[in-house]
Amino acid sequence: MMETRQKLIEVKNLKKYFPLKTSLFKKGKQVVKAVDNVSFHIYKGETFGLVGESGCGKSTLGRTLNRLYDPTAGEIRFDGNDIATLNNKGLQPYRKRMQMIFQDPYSSLNPFMTVEEIIDEPLEIHTSLSKSERKKVIVDILGKVGLKKEDMGRLPHEFSGGQRQRIGIARALSTNPDFIICDEAISALDVSIQAQVINLLEDLQKELNLTYLFVAHDLSMVRHISDRIGVMYLGKIVEVSTSDELYDKPLHPYTQALLSAIPIPDPIKAQNSNREIITGELPSPIEMEKGCRFRSRCPFAKPICGEIDPQLKRVDGEHYVACHLY
Ligand code: SF4
Repeated sequence: MMETRQKLIEVKNLKKYFPLKTSLFKKGKQVVKAVDNVSFHIYKGETFGLVGESGCGKSTLGRTLNRLYDPTAGEIRFDGNDIATLNNKGLQPYRKRMQMIFQDPYSSLNPFMTVEEIIDEPLEIHTSLSKSERKKVIVDILGKVGLKKEDMGRLPHEFSGGQRQRIGIARALSTNPDFIICDEAISALDVSIQAQVINLLEDLQKELNLTYLFVAHDLSMVRHISDRIGVMYLGKIVEVSTSDELYDKPLHPYTQALLSAIPIPDPIKAQNSNREIITGELPSPIEMEKGCRFRSRCPFAKPICGEIDPQLKRVDGEHYVACHLY
C-alpha cells in the first residue's frame, strides 16, 4: 500500500560538509561532516519526523533540502526534479513551494514589521498579485491560523509566544506551499501551547494537503504528529520507521537510548523499566574514524563495528536500520 504512494521529496547520498577555517580568512583541509551520505524520502501529504541530539545535523539537513545551504554532493528530488545543483534562477519556482517555520518565533520575525508586512513579503516576491489582492489573501491566511484581521497592523512584540508562532506559520503558508520544514517549531513554546500549535499544523495539513518535515530533538514531541520518523546521529540517518513501530520496536541502540531518555510519569513504572541510558562522549564530527559512529557509546559494539560503517537497510516493510546487529 505504502509502496504506491507518491514521493514529494527524495534524497540520495546527500552530503553537506563545512570547511573549517584555520585563520580568519583561510579555509583549511578539515571539514565538519554535518550531513554525510544521507538517503531517504518523504511521501506526499505525510509528516516525516527527524530526531536526534543537538549537533547531529538534522537542522542542516532541513536547510540543505530547501537549498538555504548548497549541498556538497548528492541529489534532492522535489516532485521528481533534482534541485540540488540549481542556481538561484532555477530555484525560483521551487522556493515558493518549500517554506520553513523556525524554532524561535521571537527572533525569526522582524520586530519592526507589522503582521501584514511580514506575511506580505513572500507574497510580493513570489506572486504577481496586486496589493489589494494580497491583502485579501493575508486576511484569509490569518483566519486559517486563528488570528484576526485586526491583528494585521500590530507588531510581533504585541503577541504571546504561541501567537507569534502562528504568525510564522501564516508567513510560511502565504505562498501556498506543498512542503513545509518545521525546524524545532514548537521547542521554544510552553507545553500547553505546543499542543495547540501541533493541532493547528495537523488541521492545516488536512485542509491544504501539506507535506511536513518536522525536525525536533525530542522523540516524545514528534510521536504524535509524525507518520514516519528518521533518527539521525552524527550526520547519518541510523533508523527510519513508521512512528508506532519506532516506539514499539526500536532497533538501533541509539533509538533505544533516545526512547529511554523520555521521562516516565509513573515513578514505579520508571523504576521497573529496563532503561538503557546512553553513556560516553559524542565523537567529534570533524575527524571521524572508520566504522560505526555510535560505537563509542554502544553497549553492543562488536569488532566489525570498528571496521565497516553500517548502511541503512530495510528490515521489514517501512522499517530501515543501519546497524551490524541486523
Ligand atoms: Fe552498535 Fe555496532 Fe550497531 Fe553501531 S553497528 S549501533 S556499534 S552494534
